[in-house]
Amino acid sequence: MPMPHIPKADLIEIFSSIQGEGVLVGCRQIFLRFPDCNLNCRYCDTNFLKSKTCQIEKRPGSGQLIELENPVDFITVKKILTMWNSELPAAHHSISITGGEPLLHEQLLASWLPELKKILPIYLETNGTLIDQLAALINHLDWVSMDIKLHSQTGLRTEWETHRKFLKIANQTDCYVKLVVGEDTPDLELQLAADLVSGVSKNIPLVLQPVTLDNKTAVSTTRLLQMQALIAEINPNLRVIPQTHRFMGVM
Ligand code: SF4
Repeated sequence: MPMPHIPKADLIEIFSSIQGEGVLVGCRQIFLRFPDCNLNCRYCDTNFLKSKTCQIEKRPGSGQLIELENPVDFITVKKILTMWNSELPAAHHSISITGGEPLLHEQLLASWLPELKKILPIYLETNGTLIDQLAALINHLDWVSMDIKLHSQTGLRTEWETHRKFLKIANQTDCYVKLVVGEDTPDLELQLAADLVSGVSKNIPLVLQPVTLDNKTAVSTTRLLQMQALIAEINPNLRVIPQTHRFMGVM
């Protein structure tokens, strides 16, 4: 059967690397980074600005990049990913759809994901704020990595009710919640976040991710362990995981 018409997409980059965050830390993934974000977190160090070209790794794991003009044709992306997956058939755990905030491209993803899912399972990295967009795509997702954005770190108002509704939908598939924390994250924020997660389900893993500065964890071990003890009482399915890709110096 001929493939239906699938729209082109502006992309930032496509590369193969090790997932450095969250419960799939250490798994190798193919990353598709989409542009644009609906938030403006104070600690953000991600390049999500749309540009004329998309950077694509020449061969998976080579670190050498070539440029393709944006918007990129879906057939081209599918060919690249299929080729990488047949060159290294056991290497990749999944395709990470990341950003920016990829759910801003919900309509495009609705046509891309069913095809990409034929290559590898789909893992979505999201800031956990676009409820309707997640609902429209949840059946295509194998994993959702969702943030609860804490005011103390982002400088933005925490959208507690939005995050709660979002997590209820994310919980229809495998999901976990990540909290980026700093030395100054107040206990009350941590308690509210832990209550929110355990209120949806006590089985949802929660990850405390200390802020990274100059490729070092910028929260003292003492404070991290205090936070861990506080949250573990509410949500025992808890892990403390820094941004390991930053230490490894991988993409
Ligand atoms: S949600 Fe993520 S990509 Fe968007 S501004 Fe915050 S840290 Fe950056």
